[in-house]
Amino acid sequence: MQKSRFLLYIVLAFTLASCARAPVRPTQIEVIPERIITAPEVLRSDVMHEVGPGETVWRLSRMYDVQVQDIVSVNRLPDSSKLEKGQKLLIPNAAPLRSVIPLWPSNKWKYIIIHHSATDVGKALSFDYVHSNKRHWKGLGYHFVIDNGTSGKEDGQIEVAPRWMHQENGAHCKAGSMNYQGIGICLVGNFNSDSVSARQMEALVSLVKELKKHYHIPDSRILGHGQVPGVSTDCPGKRFPWNDFWRRLKP
Ligand SMILES: [Zn+2]
Repeated sequence: MQKSRFLLYIVLAFTLASCARAPVRPTQIEVIPERIITAPEVLRSDVMHEVGPGETVWRLSRMYDVQVQDIVSVNRLPDSSKLEKGQKLLIPNAAPLRSVIPLWPSNKWKYIIIHHSATDVGKALSFDYVHSNKRHWKGLGYHFVIDNGTSGKEDGQIEVAPRWMHQENGAHCKAGSMNYQGIGICLVGNFNSDSVSARQMEALVSLVKELKKHYHIPDSRILGHGQVPGVSTDCPGKRFPWNDFWRRLKP
């Protein structure tokens, strides 16, 4: 059901905001979605959405295919540009959730680094809290989080983190200067004991395919965290299905 939740919209933004912290509102070209299984209008409904780190009304409008003004008015938002993390918003007549991936022109990104959260449950918001308040980093260290259907998120949902929206360094792998040149993707789960869900793998493969194509990243530079030279960790877990991943990544 709701396979269109995996719908991957690619948003190409051709300008970076001059101010590093200003949220980028892409004026974009939208490339054809990879898969359309079910007509979204059939499945529309009102949903409550918990605002994740860095999410804006504009991004929510793209994710749910709803007008910005409809979200603003139904929630009586005084200033649509200022959402609070964890804030609950009613999304009226929302289409099934789809992942919206913005891609900017950049020479910065040379690697893709895959992590697991090493937790059974989680989402961008909860990792952001830990990274901010326990590790005292500047918020969520990853660029993307792929949910596993826990903590109120949909299985296979790709959450785009603020560090990606602002094209900032990550805080996910010091070794090899990967924080400066590696795109950090974290799958929720502990793959020393659990399995990557089918929808997570589908989302990961779709995301990695688009990133590697856009940033010209060869397969040799797509690594698990533990495969980075100088790192001592089993992240993304001993049971991470590398064979399946590489098989599916092929064109
Ligand atoms: Zn890791």
